[in-house]
Amino acid sequence: METDSPHHQWHREQLARKCMDNLKKNGFDAHLAPDIPAARDLTLRLVRETAPGGAGSVGAGGSDTVRQLGVLEILEADGWTLHDHWRGGYNPDQDMAVRRAQLTADCFLCGANAVSITGEIVNVDGIGNRTAAMSFGPGRVIIVAGINKLRPDLPSALARVREVAGPMRAKSLNMKTPCAETGFCADCHSPQRICRITAILHRKPMKTAVSVILIDLPLGY
Ligand code: SF4
Repeated sequence: METDSPHHQWHREQLARKCMDNLKKNGFDAHLAPDIPAARDLTLRLVRETAPGGAGSVGAGGSDTVRQLGVLEILEADGWTLHDHWRGGYNPDQDMAVRRAQLTADCFLCGANAVSITGEIVNVDGIGNRTAAMSFGPGRVIIVAGINKLRPDLPSALARVREVAGPMRAKSLNMKTPCAETGFCADCHSPQRICRITAILHRKPMKTAVSVILIDLPLGY
């Protein structure tokens, strides 16, 4: 395991700050959070701003990082309507209805497969509810990402999906794909291929407020 010396921390901070600068130049509302509690507080504040009169609706994309923040339980306890297909117990029609409801929620929370220091956000989906919702529909999109998602530029961010995020996600879902066996992407033709749609946010979408919270911890795939 890499030693987290003051020099490691300094270097990480330099990269993260450059990423923040470039995300802001690209129109995103970009934030750095040192830990989970800080990211949780910030996320809750940003979500609540989308329904200033009281509890609104929040959609949750498939993201371990979002769940690790623990915000969904808090919002639901506060009366927010939660559209979360990871809850389980849905029949196929209900599952589709939940995914569709995410598209018009007051706020949509999701993770990122990669964030480039040059200020782009990359996500790859199999179904596409996340890549759709993060582009247009919800009142606000909040993207949370661990520092492990950072890559120098767009090509390396795209490569991260093939090299890391795709194989790990396929493995976690127990998919019958080559990468879930070998750990390497084979650009497969598997019926269970999870990489079907690539969304790159080069700039903030014109009609959607997008906040990005980069957390100084390794989180998610
Ligand atoms: S394209 Fe196929 S092999 Fe490559 S990461 Fe996606 S699911 Fe795995």
